[in-house]
Parts: sequence; structure tokens; C-alpha cells
Amino acid sequence: MGSIPASGNSPYEFFNVIDGKPRPAEEYHQVVDPRTEEPLWDAPVASFQDLDDAVDAATRAFKTWKTSTIAERQKAIHNVAQCILKNADILAEVQMRETGKSKAMSRFDVERTAHHFEYYTDVALEDEVQYEDDSVQIVATHVPIGVLGAISPWNFPLILSSIKVVSALATGNCVIIKPSPFTPYSLLKFCELAQSVLPPGVFQALNGGAELGEQMTLHPGIHHISFTGTIAVGQRIFQNCTRTLKKVILELAGNNACIVCDDADLAKVVPQVAIGSLFHAGQVCVASKRIYVHESLYDRFLELLVEEAKKFAVDDDAKSPAFSPLSNRANFDRAVGFVEDCKKNGYKIVAGGRVKPTGKGFWIEPTIVSKPPDDSLLVREEQFAPIVPVLSWASEDDVVARANLDNAGLGASVYTPDLARARGLAARLESGSVWINQFERPHQAGFFGGWKLSGVNGELGRRGLLHYANVQSLHIAKV
Ligand code: NAD
Repeated sequence: MGSIPASGNSPYEFFNVIDGKPRPAEEYHQVVDPRTEEPLWDAPVASFQDLDDAVDAATRAFKTWKTSTIAERQKAIHNVAQCILKNADILAEVQMRETGKSKAMSRFDVERTAHHFEYYTDVALEDEVQYEDDSVQIVATHVPIGVLGAISPWNFPLILSSIKVVSALATGNCVIIKPSPFTPYSLLKFCELAQSVLPPGVFQALNGGAELGEQMTLHPGIHHISFTGTIAVGQRIFQNCTRTLKKVILELAGNNACIVCDDADLAKVVPQVAIGSLFHAGQVCVASKRIYVHESLYDRFLELLVEEAKKFAVDDDAKSPAFSPLSNRANFDRAVGFVEDCKKNGYKIVAGGRVKPTGKGFWIEPTIVSKPPDDSLLVREEQFAPIVPVLSWASEDDVVARANLDNAGLGASVYTPDLARARGLAARLESGSVWINQFERPHQAGFFGGWKLSGVNGELGRRGLLHYANVQSLHIAKV
């Protein structure tokens, strides 16, 4: 059991957070623990009135918060990071239960969340002289946009929500965040705890589903939406945001290709690829979702990957903390559909393939499928599960063409010791990030955004802050 958090409320009582205060709801729902399938705690469902109240509170808070200096905001962000670390036990425990992550992985996420906040205590958008001559100086300043509506998914509830929260705070915006109703607890608790170090109305949280999210995207008092989730919902949000011309950041799915070249050192590469595709049961936006191995190495690679996959154990926290069950029944059912489709079509499953092997929890064994056709469901669509197609290639032109699907604009990875070759391949890959000789992992300092169907704009790093600010150009005459 976790320790009592600094707010004084029970660690297992959850509230929407509006205008600096926890607010009980009229309606509650419960999430199921993906390891045990037992119900967890009551999660408050926010009403449209709660949303209106939160927008009013944010609008009031913005009047003062937008005038704060960068140094004042950075101090507040540091205090939030400290608040996360002080309450790491309870946040890690709650997030572990709602996501099915191991204790170690959940703790790691909490610490990384604090790192994201700390990173922005030292990184900001400064004024920039765009042009200067004898008669004029043109300076770009970065002005807060207003009230941000942030909508996040369930795979990394704290980290992915926090990127939006800290980016908003760093740029002087107020933020109302809606976590996924599959994982509401850790974010609601974090927001409740953070009230002790922030002015009321600056950071608020409302739990709810698609209806509440939709209402946020239509609300005239919200000026900007930052969304992370599926392509279909991102498209819907983009449409809604045009009605009030909100600015948008859409961080969407990636059917990411991983390319292993003929000169790759398999002893080094296979463990990286295994983590890239199986970490958190493949429920990672940038995970290696399609593995393309040069035909000269294919058989040996497959043998080694099957061996490596045995390290990702079902139902064993201590031995394999990087592996998890599917986080909720909806994603489990969807993932089972991919396994059934492979079986029905007679694709060659060379490892795994069993669902719920222990009879309890939303587990699917690490499943490796050898050379399913390019038009198979598993290759065309993002699986978001530990079911990995391993394909072969012969020429770079061929593998690049197959890698560049419209839904593959988020990330890619390339394995070759020849850096010039890797950079040449990366330059031809149509995706926002390419990892070279390492599995896909976003970094707080590296701008992150999807191309094509994988997104619009982006976040992280100093560049990410540009999407959380309006730019005002000052044309200053030299008189
Ligand atoms: P999802 O799109 O189903 O839901 C995401 C959020 O949107 C949830 O909070 C949900 O309640 C809300 N929502 C649903 N319908 C809405 C609507 N009509 N209007 C407004 N909000 C609505 O996604 P998910 O299943 O939670 O997340 C998994 C997906 O997210 C995967 O495709 C994954 O690749 C993607 N993802 C992308 C990134 C990235 O950074 N690009 C990171 C993590 C996950």
C-alpha cells in the first residue's frame, strides 16, 4: 500500500481537479486491473458543467499566469518535479495497477515524468532577433496562447500527459487535461497533489471519455488542443478544431518500420530489436511494429529473436519487468483479432501465439510471425501488441518503399554500423524520428512529431515549445 500523499486525501480516493480543489463527481466508473481483472477504485466522471467551470477557472488564472516571467514559471515547474518525486511511491503504485506495468517500469515512468519537468527548468523560448539593419530591428517574441485542452492515451498515462502539462506551463498557458478513462487514476492524483505548488486554475484535470473529449475540442473557451492517440480520433479532433480555429498538436499512431541491414552485428542488434518491439507488450507509439531484415541474415536473425523473446515472460514481474499484459480489454480484444487473423490465413507463427496463457489477465505471449504478406492486417495496420511481423528485403529501394506507409510517419529504426548508410536510409524514410542502432525511445530534448497520418506539429525539446506559443513579431523602428 502506498503512503498518504501530501494533499492529505486518501491515496485511493480520486477527484476531478477544478480551480485548485478536488471536486467529487455525480457519476463514477471503475477500471479493471489488467493483471488480475479485478475492479480498481472509483474514478469520477466529469460533467459538461465541470468542464465549463474548469474553463472559467483557467480563463481567470490565465490573466495572471500569462504575465509571469520565465524564471517564475521555471521555479514552479521545479516545484512540480519535486512534488512528483516526493509522491513517487503512490503515483507508481496507482499507475502500475491501472496499466498492468511492473513495479519497476511504473517507477521508472514516474521518475521520467519528473525528468521531463526538470528539463524545462532550463529550457525556454527566448526572444529572437529575426532581422536588423540601420532602420529596423525585427524581434520574434513568444506569447502564451491561452487555455490548452490536453487529451491523452492510456499507455504512458503520466509521461504523455506530463509532456503536455509542462509544455503548457513553460510557455505561460493554463491547461485542462483529460486522461484516458482506461487510466484515470495516476493523472488525477498527480494533478491533485500538484495543486500545493501551483496557483489555482493553472493545471486542472477532468476524467471522462470520448464525449468529454469531444466537448473540449468544441469549447469556445479552449484555444488550443494537444492530443495523443489513434489516427481516427485525431482526424475527428482536427475536424472539430476547425470550427473555432483552435491550434492543434496531434501525436498519433505509428506503424513504425525497423530496418536491419546486411552488415548488422546481430549479437548487438537482436536484443535492441526485441526491446523495441516487445517492451510494454508493444504498447508504445514508437515501437518497432514491422521488422525488415536483409535476406542474407534473415534465418539467423529469426532464430536469435525467438530466443530473445523468451526473456519477455508472461506474468512474471521480477524476471521480466519490461513486459506487461495488454492494458485493457479493448486493446486485448483488438490484439486477439490480429493473432486470429494470422492463424486464419495460415501465416507462419514461429514463437508464441497463445492468448491468456495463464487464464488470468490480459496477456498475450510474445508472438513472432515470419513473412506475412505485405497486404496482411499485421503489416498494414498498427497492432499495438506483442505480435511482430518479421519480413525480408533485398534492395534498399524496395525496403524504403515498403517502410513508407502513410500510417508510418511517426518513427523508424535503422541498424547498420555504417553511419553514412544509416543516414542515407533515414533521409529516405518519411517519419518524424529515426533511431540509428538503438531501439525507439523519445528523449525529452528531441523534438517529436509525426508526419503524414501520424500527426500534425509536435512536442518535446525546445522546438516543441514553439507549438505551445503564438509568435508576435515586433518591428522596432530605429528613430
Ligand atoms: P484513442 O484515440 O482511442 O484515445 C485517446 C484519447 O482520446 C482518450 O483520452 C480518449 O478518451 C479520447 N477520445 C476518444 N474519442 C474522442 C473524441 N471524439 N474527441 C476527443 N477525445 C476523444 O487512443 P488510445 O487507445 O488511448 O491510445 C493508443 C493510440 O495512441 C495508439 O494508436 C498509439 O500509437 C497512439 N499513441 C501515440 C503517441 C504519440 O506520441 N504519437 C504516443 C502514445 C500513443
